[in-house]
Amino acid sequence: MSTPEKAENNAAAPVVRSEDEWRRELTPEEYHVLRQAGTERPYTGEYWDTHTAGVYHCRACGAELFTSNEKFDSHCGWPSFWAPLAEERVRYIHDRTLGMDRIEVRCANCDSHLGHVFEGEGYGTPTDQRYCINSVSLKLVTADSADSTPES
Ligand SMILES: [Zn+2]
Repeated sequence: MSTPEKAENNAAAPVVRSEDEWRRELTPEEYHVLRQAGTERPYTGEYWDTHTAGVYHCRACGAELFTSNEKFDSHCGWPSFWAPLAEERVRYIHDRTLGMDRIEVRCANCDSHLGHVFEGEGYGTPTDQRYCINSVSLKLVTADSADSTPES
C-alpha cells in the first residue's frame, strides 16, 4: 500500500456554512463524520455492501460524488470506489494524524469529510485505488428514482 499522488486543491468550497448551521442540518453522527472527520464503525454503514445502481451524493450538500459503476467489493466494511464521478468533485488533503500518512478525501463543493483514498492494495480495479468512504457521508439516489429532485 502506498500513498497516492494527489494534488491538493485549496480553492474555497462554493458551499460555505457555519458549524452551527451544519450542526442544525445534520444528525449528530453525520456531523461527527462530515464536519469533524470522524469514521463510522466498519460493517455498520448503510452502503458498505450495496450493489444498487445509482449515484452517490454528498450527504451534506447533495453534490454528485460517486456512482455505482466505480463501486467495488473491497470487504473492508466501508463503501469503496476506484474513482470519483469526476476528479473535480472531490478534493484531497494530506492527513498525517494518528501516525499515518494518508490522503483525506473531501467534497469539493462543501468541504465535508468523506473518507480516505489508498493505492496499490491489489484489488485489481482499473486505477488500483480505493476510495474508502463513510456511508454516512453519502446518500444513494437509485437509477430508477433519478428524475426526482435530489435533496439539497
Ligand atoms: Zn458536499
